[in-house]
Amino acid sequence: MKFIADGMLGKLTRWLRMLGHDVEYSRSDDDKKLIDKAKSEGRTLLTSDFNLYQQASTQNVDAVWLESSAGNEKLADLAVRFNFKLEIDVRISRCPKCNTRIKPVSKSLIIERVPKATSTYYKEFWECPKCEQVYWKGAHWKRIEQTLNEARRKVQNAVTPARASSIPKEAGT
Ligand SMILES: [Zn+2]
Repeated sequence: MKFIADGMLGKLTRWLRMLGHDVEYSRSDDDKKLIDKAKSEGRTLLTSDFNLYQQASTQNVDAVWLESSAGNEKLADLAVRFNFKLEIDVRISRCPKCNTRIKPVSKSLIIERVPKATSTYYKEFWECPKCEQVYWKGAHWKRIEQTLNEARRKVQNAVTPARASSIPKEAGT
């Protein structure tokens, strides 16, 4: 999926990128710029601002208003709406920082850039070709899996009609 997220959705942006979605994000973009970019790049606008959602909808831009405050609920809402899996597949993951596809990298190439204990314990590493950030499935991976599990549970609850009706329908789809 191709998204553009408003400045309030930095955390959600990082999650979506890890899940492999192409998410444009800049804290400095104003409403007009967000709508223009969504239009010209064919992106779905994600926003927590109802006014912006309405503006976009009246201009026939695909937009989703994310009502809930909890990050895993936002993720769950999107997973239901666009029917994507809440599972990280590192072959398609994008760098949470800069939206570039990450690539597997051999340990010898990044050994100087990670803590010694990390290079001792972990075998698999990925690198962002653009910002050069190195990733591995370290202790934080458990928390990532936990959050995704919570979101998956919410998806299951959301598939009831009552929950689904609280997500506003977008215009033009
Ligand atoms: Zn990067």
